[in-house]
Amino acid sequence: MNDTDGPRSESETGSEAGSQHDFWAAAVADEIETRNPEEPIVIKGGVSPSGVAHLGNFNEIMRGYFVAEVLRSRGHEVRQVFTSDDRDPLRKLPRKLADAEGTIVGLGDVDAGALGRNLGTPYTDIPDPFGESESYAAHFASLLKADADRLGVPVEMVSNTELYEDGTFEPVVEHVLERVATAREVLGKYQSKVDGDYVPFNPICSNCGKITETVTGVDLDAGTVDYVCTDMTAGGDTIEGCGFEGTATFREGKLPWRFEWPAQWQVLGVDFEPFGKDHAEGSWPSGRDIAENVLGIEPPVPMTYEWFTLNGEALSSSSGNVVTVPEILELLEPAVLRYFFALNPRRARDLDLSRLDQLVDDFDRFERAYFGDVDDESITAFAKRAYPYVVDDVRAERIRLPYTFAAVLGMTDDRELRIEMARNEGYVDDDTPEWAVEAALNRVDRARAWAERMDNAYNYRIQETLPEVDVDDDVVAALEDLAAFVAAGHDGEAIQGEMYETARRHGIEVGDFFEAGYLLFFDQPQGPRLGEFLGELDTEFVVRRLRREG
Ligand SMILES: [Zn+2]
Repeated sequence: MNDTDGPRSESETGSEAGSQHDFWAAAVADEIETRNPEEPIVIKGGVSPSGVAHLGNFNEIMRGYFVAEVLRSRGHEVRQVFTSDDRDPLRKLPRKLADAEGTIVGLGDVDAGALGRNLGTPYTDIPDPFGESESYAAHFASLLKADADRLGVPVEMVSNTELYEDGTFEPVVEHVLERVATAREVLGKYQSKVDGDYVPFNPICSNCGKITETVTGVDLDAGTVDYVCTDMTAGGDTIEGCGFEGTATFREGKLPWRFEWPAQWQVLGVDFEPFGKDHAEGSWPSGRDIAENVLGIEPPVPMTYEWFTLNGEALSSSSGNVVTVPEILELLEPAVLRYFFALNPRRARDLDLSRLDQLVDDFDRFERAYFGDVDDESITAFAKRAYPYVVDDVRAERIRLPYTFAAVLGMTDDRELRIEMARNEGYVDDDTPEWAVEAALNRVDRARAWAERMDNAYNYRIQETLPEVDVDDDVVAALEDLAAFVAAGHDGEAIQGEMYETARRHGIEVGDFFEAGYLLFFDQPQGPRLGEFLGELDTEFVVRRLRREG
C-alpha cells in the first residue's frame, strides 16, 4: 500500500457518483436481488490448482464473501462455493509449491520427478508432491480451505473431477455435443482455432492418463467419444501424447474451460461470480454467450476485480512472487486482511510488505470511522456499511496499538514491559478490560515478525541483562547525566534532544554517545531513534541501564 492508497475517496469505497451505496458489495447484492433468485443464492469462485495457493487467489473467496454476508444480513440463505478446477491438466511445472502449513518451498524439496512425468494429466490423478493428501489437487484444495477457515469464511469446496465422475456434468456434456455446430459457431467468435472438426470435449486417455484434444467421433446414443492421444501444446512446449486410440464416456474427460465455466454455472445454479480482469477480456464474454446461446441459461451477475501487485510486481505462482495467507497472517491480524479485500475491487493496488504499517494505519482509521471518530464522510459511510463484516465482534472498548509502536514493543519479549510501555503512551489505562489488552498485544507479535522479515528499523532486541560494554570515563559521566535527566521525568522527544546536549557538554562525539546507548540497550552499535525509544520504556529500567547497574 502506498500512502495515497487509503480509503479516502469515493472511488475507494466502490460507490459510484449518485449511487446510494457506500459499499460495493451492497451494490452487487442489489443487482442479485433484482433477479429474484431462488434460495439458497449461490456465490462461486474458483481456480485451477497451480503451484502455490496464494493471496491473489483469495480474491475469488473474499470478494464473494462480502456479497454473501450482505445478502445474509438481508435475510437470504446463501451458499458460497469454490470450485477447484482440478480436472485441468498440469501444463507446466511450477517453480514453487506450498506445503500443508502454507510454507513456500522449491521443487527441490518435493518429488519433482513425479510431477514431470505427469504433465498433461489431470491434477486429481497426480500424486501429492508432499505425499500426504490423496492427490496434487486435494493438497491444493485443502490449503485453500484451511486459509478460508483462518479468515472465518464458510466456503464449500467443490471438485470439478467429482462433478464429472458422479455424472453431474453428464447432461451438460451431452447437451453441448448434441449442438456441436452451434457450439463451434459461438466459440468461433472468440477463438480462431475452432474449425469444422472441433469437438468441445477432451477425453482422458485410458492408456497414459493424459487429457487429449483430438476427438475423432461422437456417439450420442452410446454416450461416448472416440479419440486419438495426440500431442498437446502448453505454452511453448509440447506434451507428448502416446498415440493410443480409444473410447471414453462423457464422465471420462472434461469440457474445455470456455464451456466448463458456464457448465458450472448451470449445474451449481450460480447467481454471482467475481473474476479477475483476464477473464473479463477472455472467457467471460464467450462464457456468457455460451450460457445464453448453447446452454440456454442466464449467466450469473458478474464482477471484475483488479489484481493487486505484491511489492510492486505481479503476483505469480510460477515466478515465485507470492505470499500465502498463513504467511501474511504472521504479519497482520485477520481483520486487517479482511479489510484489504473489503476495499474497492475495481481499483488496482499494491500490497507492499515493507509498508504494512500504512495498511494497518488505514484499517485503524476505518475502525475509528465506524465508531464516528473520523471527520470524513466518505470513509465513515463506507465503514458504517463494511466494518461489521470485517471484524468478528464489534466492540467499542477495543484498543489498537499503532503498528510501528507495536513493532517497538516487539523489541522486548517481556509482557509486563510491553504493557507498561503501552500504558506510558496512554493506550492502556485502568479502565481497559483485560481482553482488550490481550487483543492489542496480539498485534505486537505480528509487528515483531514484520520487523524481522523486513529487517527494518524496528528489528532490534532490548537486552534483558546488561551487555558487556567498554565505555571511557567521559561517556560514563555523560550517561550519568542522562540517567538523571530521564529520572526527572521527560518524554522521548526531550530525551532525544538532551542526548545531543549531554554529548556536547561532555565534549564527546554525538555518534559515540549514541553508540554507547545502543550497545547498552541492544548490544549493537546502531538502532532506532534512541531518545524517543527510551521515552517509551519503563523509566526505572532506563535509569538502571544507563547507570550500568542492570
Ligand atoms: Zn495417451
